[in-house]
Amino acid sequence: MKILIQKYGGTSVNTPEARELVASRVIAAREEGYTPVVVVSAIGRLGEPYATDTLINFVRHTYSEVSPREMDLLMSCGEIISGITLTAAIQKAGHQAIFLTGAQAGIITDHNFNEARIIKVKPENVIRYAREDKVVIVAGFQGVTEEGDITTLGRGGSDTTAAALGVALGAQYVDIYTDVEGIMTADPRIVGEAQTLKMVTYDEICQLAYEGAKVIHPRAVEIVMQANIPLRVKSIFSNAPGTLVTNLGEVYKGTIDITRDRVITGITQISNLTQFKINTEGEENLKQQRRLFSSLALAGISLDFINVNSKEVIFTVKEELAHKASQILENVSFTPEVNYNCAKVATVGAGMSGVPGVMAGIVEALTKEEIQILQANDSYTTIWVLVKQEDMEKAIRALHRQFVANEKEKR
Ligand code: ADP
Ligand code: ASP
Ligand code: MG
Repeated sequence: MKILIQKYGGTSVNTPEARELVASRVIAAREEGYTPVVVVSAIGRLGEPYATDTLINFVRHTYSEVSPREMDLLMSCGEIISGITLTAAIQKAGHQAIFLTGAQAGIITDHNFNEARIIKVKPENVIRYAREDKVVIVAGFQGVTEEGDITTLGRGGSDTTAAALGVALGAQYVDIYTDVEGIMTADPRIVGEAQTLKMVTYDEICQLAYEGAKVIHPRAVEIVMQANIPLRVKSIFSNAPGTLVTNLGEVYKGTIDITRDRVITGITQISNLTQFKINTEGEENLKQQRRLFSSLALAGISLDFINVNSKEVIFTVKEELAHKASQILENVSFTPEVNYNCAKVATVGAGMSGVPGVMAGIVEALTKEEIQILQANDSYTTIWVLVKQEDMEKAIRALHRQFVANEKEKR
């Protein structure tokens, strides 16, 4: 069998017309000699009746504390409703189809409700039904523990299901269908002139995804990368080729054309962060630093954007943890300066390593717009700046103009 994984996001299945498009893509894959295995997300987005956010809000509206195990069971319903609806659409188009929940498809996870990790895939059911010439439709975003508890894989986790099945079944490709034409140089909702990337490496897209590009779940990329399975991100609504995600080896072999001197791949953002600045100056400086970090670690608060120097410690936390972090710091006798409403904007590019002038370009672009950089940090593929939330979109557009719009021919 030549397996092709096709994953359809929420907007690809939210109208009968969209589901017809999905059915026609599934049928086209069969006609090309593939055995398609379909992974599906919950229908639509917040506000639509069976979207994941709608299900969450439905119960949280009245009961603020719902246990994670029960929350996962509730959230898993969205993909079940969606999968059954799509199965009916494919059957209506005259093809045999069968729907499997994550558990029935053998997606086995750990017990970390809400953010479970897939520990193994037992694909026997999928293989059996595929051999019977049925289109197998699998609910994304969900799995089951070895004890039989239903889990979910973290928001956006249907991509992860698709990747894991792709590896377990030795798929030729994992195709992610969504509402944009591929992976773009910035979120098209913020940058109107964002460009679709023809090809990116696993490393590049991992960086983009971890830095907030919601178009694909970073764990999905890690999974396909380990097995070297090519992944394509495409639009359900057009026949454009989309973005191919693969490794640099293919590029060197000459099978794929990529502009290797592309310095910047894209601009991404993470909103709703709170910055903390704590004065640790004085004789007890080292002891203070130790006390500060260990008390936050003991409370399970994850820090980001950490800068430490002999006078102060600076870091950010997600907005929802800001209050708890403040309390802990005060309990251990620190008086932090707290800056709410911040956002992290990342300029990402595997090609920036060793290239002079990237930071200078960032500063030029942002200062021209009178945007204050609250903090900056870098790695060999990324430069992050922290800005006020209200400046975030302007900053992304300025950086996109500086690094992407001017280098169009290199995409
Ligand atoms: P799906 O329901 O299909 O999984 P998502 O909402 O998870 O869809 O992802 C697609 C959305 O990701 C797009 O509508 C787009 O607004 C957003 N997005 C954010 N950053 C990027 C990017 N760099 N490239 C493409 N889309 C992006
Ligand atoms: N429906 C889930 C979510 O909204 C999973 C997904 O869409 O991939 O997060
Ligand atoms: Mg998604």
